[in-house]
Amino acid sequence: MPTPAATHVNTLLASYPNFPQPGILFRDLNPVFADAAAFRALIDELAGRFAGEFDAVAGIEARGFLLAAAVGYAADVAVLAVRKGGKLPGAVLTEEYDLEYGSACLELEIGQLAAGSRVLVLDDVLATGGTIAATSRLIGRAGYALAGVGVVLELTELEGRGRLGDVAVHAIVAL
Ligand code: AMP
Repeated sequence: MPTPAATHVNTLLASYPNFPQPGILFRDLNPVFADAAAFRALIDELAGRFAGEFDAVAGIEARGFLLAAAVGYAADVAVLAVRKGGKLPGAVLTEEYDLEYGSACLELEIGQLAAGSRVLVLDDVLATGGTIAATSRLIGRAGYALAGVGVVLELTELEGRGRLGDVAVHAIVAL
């Protein structure tokens, strides 16, 4: 029985073959975010699944920011922004990781939360898992505990979940 959020995603998700490059089937969640009832259902499910288990949320640039801001507000917890390299000032931690073509890097400012704070990582899509794995390393290096991972959509054939260790991963929809 799909959850209310999953029903919204299944109805509104848009798919674009060969975007942004040949061979990629791009999953566009913006139509889900653009529907007020659907967006509320996403946030309710993500916040509810991990209720009482996190002290902060970390959103991954850029679509993860939308989810983290709303879950943070709903759960009344702190919000961290995990940004692409070169955008954060001051003392930052950096993690490089491989993409299907080339590499990327993510950064987190240090000293924003108390040591041991439980951080829930949020992003829109779990594909190969490289992005969330790098974010998880940042959370650990910053002295925080990884409370879980929440995504709207998991692309199971890419087996990203296997790169994330034994953390609890919640996907609203798995394709
Ligand atoms: P990953 O391969 O799990 O590191 O995913 C990298 C990032 O690219 C994630 O933040 C996803 O939001 C995005 N992404 C990867 N594959 C897709 C896809 N097929 N459709 C939409 N977004 C994607």
